[in-house]
Amino acid sequence: MKIADRIHIVASGRLGFGLTDDFDCHVYLVVGGSEYALIDAGGGRDIDGIVAQITGDGLDPTRVRQLLLTHAHADHAAGAAGLRRRFGLRVLASPAVARYVRAGDEHAVSLDVARRAGSYPPEFTFPPCPVDAELADGAEVKVGDLTLTALETPGHASGHLAYVLRQGDRVSVFSGDAVFFGGTILLQHTWDCSLQESISSVERLAALSVDGLYPGHLTFAVRHGRRQVDKAIQSIANLLPPPQMA
Ligand SMILES: [Zn+2]
Repeated sequence: MKIADRIHIVASGRLGFGLTDDFDCHVYLVVGGSEYALIDAGGGRDIDGIVAQITGDGLDPTRVRQLLLTHAHADHAAGAAGLRRRFGLRVLASPAVARYVRAGDEHAVSLDVARRAGSYPPEFTFPPCPVDAELADGAEVKVGDLTLTALETPGHASGHLAYVLRQGDRVSVFSGDAVFFGGTILLQHTWDCSLQESISSVERLAALSVDGLYPGHLTFAVRHGRRQVDKAIQSIANLLPPPQMA
């Protein structure tokens, strides 16, 4: 589904629009002319559904060349192996996320505790996946005639990156699970979750003056994304954590 100039949403689960499998985060497709990139992979149980979304949008799936991961939680990254196989694409991630994904480390990505908590079915696993390049803070990734810039935004999870797309004056941010519409954040009882880091990441995102805000779940903002991020900043200014994503 096309949602903005050069931006489509091609997977979305139960915390979103129900386009594909329940356990898929939002997967965005960035259309850089002759080649495309996916932001996040989803949970990996409905690769056919993602391909169907892409073709249904009138786009050629063979042009998908790269997958950029925001973080390694299973609903965002367990689908990497299947997508890499299906599209022959390159997988890019932060060094920490690369380590977890290469190993399929279910403890590092908290799939072990999430499965126990009932967030995933018992048979849900994280297949290891090669990662082709590691992205440092500020790294630029060319997608055809567009450029995505990686932005370190830890707090929700270790090694979390947001991706910034600049088109003229317009700033779009794929914020993963660092901040959501309404200025909420997602703190979990996992080994790598940090309120302090989460707040610093929200402040980094607020400094961008975002137009398009495209998080990993729930709804998004095509315009005035800064109004959403500013709601989180308002809480922080009052010495309170931003509200929890529900
Ligand atoms: Zn997450």
